[in-house]
Amino acid sequence: MTALALADYVPDRSLGAKIRRRLTRWKVAKPLPVQPRETYICFTFDDFPKSAADTGAEILDEVGARGGYYACTGMAGTSGTMGELFDERDLAPLVAAGHEICAHTESHVDCARASLNDVLVDIDTNLSHLKEMGHSLPVTQFAWPYGETSASLKPAMTTKFDAVRGILPGANNKGADLMQLSAYELDASDASTARAAAAIEAAAKNPTWLFVFTHDVRQNGSPWGTTPEDLRRLVRLARDTGANLVTPSHAVQEILAKDAA
Ligand SMILES: [Zn+2]
Repeated sequence: MTALALADYVPDRSLGAKIRRRLTRWKVAKPLPVQPRETYICFTFDDFPKSAADTGAEILDEVGARGGYYACTGMAGTSGTMGELFDERDLAPLVAAGHEICAHTESHVDCARASLNDVLVDIDTNLSHLKEMGHSLPVTQFAWPYGETSASLKPAMTTKFDAVRGILPGANNKGADLMQLSAYELDASDASTARAAAAIEAAAKNPTWLFVFTHDVRQNGSPWGTTPEDLRRLVRLARDTGANLVTPSHAVQEILAKDAA
């Protein structure tokens, strides 16, 4: 699926779909077993556009933050509303700078509408294509395309990934679903930037685990992306609160390890 097709995606807005989404969220597949003792904030980029890999990474690097890049391999080398998407040349430099490459399916499939088997095959294709593109590290993080998943699918991810991110806003505290973690979307609207900023400020008072996710990082970018200024403002705000600005893997490992210590 090309980035252009992403623009054409229409979520299932039927009442049945709304009820199913609510039930899916309630049905926790793998609860976070502990309350984070410090605040962890993961800045993440979905699909992902080249501007996230260069401008986005530069902004994180300025303050020593490390982020997560959820790669939809079927979009690699294409371009569309979000600008140019990543290709194999973007992976090694991100890893060398300490950022993490995460899975996001091969075809950006709506996992709630596809069969369980089709989703599993699509994810396996995503992982094997990342390997073919030269990414040799284990991929332990995944994000649901469009945030869509199902109660039967989430348990199937527990043996494949350490943590899986969704798109519903919220902080991840003890009991949060490691197979559908909450995340604040940072899009082109000022409201999304303000909401993420408020969450970061609140997290400074009560240790928790936050995700922020966006797409392209450009002036006059897509409706799903942000500007360098807005991203920089949030990253610096997060840095100023003293939060750990780490990759998703680093966050989950530290949260679990600190409890065991
Ligand atoms: Zn996506």
